[in-house]
Amino acid sequence: MNQLIDSFGRIHTYLRISVTDRCNLRCTYCMPAEGIALKRKDEILTYEEIYRIAKAFVEMGINKIRLTGGEPLVRKDLEVLVEKLKSLPGLDVLAMTTNAVLLKDKVSILKKLGLNALNISIDSLQKERFKEITLRDDLDNVLEAIDMAVKANFDSLKLNVVIIAHKNDNEILDFIEFVKNKSINVRFIEYMPFKDNQWDASSVYSYAQMKKIIETGYQLAPLPINKGDVAKDFQLVNYPATVSFITSMTDSFCSSCNRLRLMADGSIKSCLFYAPEMNLRDELRSGISDHELKQLFLSVVKQKPEAHPPMEELAKLDNRAMVEIGG
Ligand code: SAM
Ligand code: SF4
Repeated sequence: MNQLIDSFGRIHTYLRISVTDRCNLRCTYCMPAEGIALKRKDEILTYEEIYRIAKAFVEMGINKIRLTGGEPLVRKDLEVLVEKLKSLPGLDVLAMTTNAVLLKDKVSILKKLGLNALNISIDSLQKERFKEITLRDDLDNVLEAIDMAVKANFDSLKLNVVIIAHKNDNEILDFIEFVKNKSINVRFIEYMPFKDNQWDASSVYSYAQMKKIIETGYQLAPLPINKGDVAKDFQLVNYPATVSFITSMTDSFCSSCNRLRLMADGSIKSCLFYAPEMNLRDELRSGISDHELKQLFLSVVKQKPEAHPPMEELAKLDNRAMVEIGG
């Protein structure tokens, strides 16, 4: 097997697949105010094409796949793809990141089909602020879906919370309160710069600040670091919940990065903050063999940079919008 090893010895075992560039929310930190140039349907990979790429990747050592978007649940019949991917021998974990607006009706089927892990994004527990951040009035739907997801007993259930200075930084303890008695991992994410997402350095609320706030009321005990982990993980002492921090801005984790990204239009991205991509869709449609496909994967991996630049420089990159990349 040709392993996906880059020029710096990092072995890639985790593939994130964005299944659509469309979204039913308009989170101001993710979706540019003027929207994005949406791809035509024929520019988006079909489920068969996604499956073919995923299968080849799994044969090269990918053992975890996460479905993302845009919003993955706005793509029709996502269950069909989940079922197909679950059949891949060698795939240990199939996960999904969702805003949960459409999750209520899908939780049980997704669990039944074998989706292992679910990350739900929610940045405010306050109705008005949720609306201000997402430009939609969907908090109640999301809270109901979280409740159902807790009951469904996924192997892993996480909440993704992007903390933005002066926007929702005063809700950190509310989120801890919300999860503390549940089997949930709450992940506080530092605000990252992407195309037209209103980012500036003063809006970054750092890991150190977040941790300090939590420790005014709770004890955090460090948990062991697993290979490829991008989060700093803690047990909330005396509670079932765990707390993590994604510190991309103040303490990046490039040296242990094991991820690749496939976007909805068939482009592969080797790093969240490295703009060059390789599009596989046209190759796929012009009859490329599996062997040739795998050689293309290897060439993308070989070009992966060692690390991304510091945050002020990231803001100037000509990168895609986050809503297209998928996290
Ligand atoms: N729509 C789905 C959702 O929101 O969960 C999946 C796609 S979304 C792009 C994936 C993750 O990226 C979400 O948890 C979101 O909060 C996070 N995200 C988006 N823009 C971000 C930014 N500028 N900085 C940090 N995280 C961001
Ligand atoms: Fe949509 Fe997710 Fe981006 Fe919000 S974070 S706009 S839900 S893709």
